[in-house]
Amino acid sequence: MSDILARCAQAALAAIVAREAEIEGLDRAIGDGDHYINIRRGAETAVTLCTEMAGEPANTVLKMLGMKLLSTIGGASGPLTASFFLAAGKVEPAEGALTQAVVAQMVSDGVAAIKARGKADVGAKTMLDTLVPAAQALTEGAGSSEPAELRAKLRAAAEAGMRSTKDMTAKFGRAAFLGERAVGHIDPGAMSSFVIIAAICDMLEADEGG
Ligand code: ADP
Ligand code: MG
Repeated sequence: MSDILARCAQAALAAIVAREAEIEGLDRAIGDGDHYINIRRGAETAVTLCTEMAGEPANTVLKMLGMKLLSTIGGASGPLTASFFLAAGKVEPAEGALTQAVVAQMVSDGVAAIKARGKADVGAKTMLDTLVPAAQALTEGAGSSEPAELRAKLRAAAEAGMRSTKDMTAKFGRAAFLGERAVGHIDPGAMSSFVIIAAICDMLEADEGG
C-alpha cells in the first residue's frame, strides 16, 4: 500500500540532492547553512522508513515517520517537519485508499500542525509561504480535477508562494535577526518545500494516472 510513499520519498531525496548548492546557499545567506543537511537527512530517513514499512497502511507509516524525524532532523525544521507528518498520519483513509481528498486532508492537517507548532503563518518568510497555498490548491482541486490539472495547480501555487518569500523580511527563525538584509533571498525552507512538491509531481507525471 505504502509503496507510493517510498517512491515519493525517493523522488524528494533525489531532487534535494540535485539542488544542494541552491538550498545550502540560501541558508548560508539568511540562516546558518545547515538547512540542506537537515532536509537531506530527513529525506533519507523517509526513504529508509517508507521502504521498510511498505505494505503497512499509509497513515501508520506517516505517523512513524513523524516520530523518527523528531530524532533525526535538527534545527527549527526538525520539529516542524515532524509535526507535519504526525498530523498527516492521524488522517485515516477509508479502506486505505489515498484518494485526492485524503491526500488534501493529510497535507492540510500537516500544514495546520506546522502553524500551531511554530506560531507562524503566510507572510513571515518561512516554509509556510510555500505550504499554505499548496495545501489550498490541493483542497480546492481535490475530487474535481484531473490528476494532471491538479498537479499543475499544486505546483504553480507552491512555486508562486516560494517566490513570494524573496521580497519579505523574516518574522521567525534565524533570518528574523537580519531584518532588511534578508530581503532579496528566497527562504530556504520555502525553497526546499517547493523542490519536494515539484519532485513528487514530476514522479507522478512520469507514472501517469497518479
Ligand atoms: P535552523 O533555522 O534551526 O537552522 P533549518 O535551517 O533546517 O533550521 O530550517 C530553517 C527553515 O525553517 C527556514 O528557512 C524556515 O522556512 C523554517 N522556519 C523557521 N522557523 C519557522 C516557524 N516558526 N514556522 C515555520 N517555518 C519556520
Ligand atoms: Mg539553518
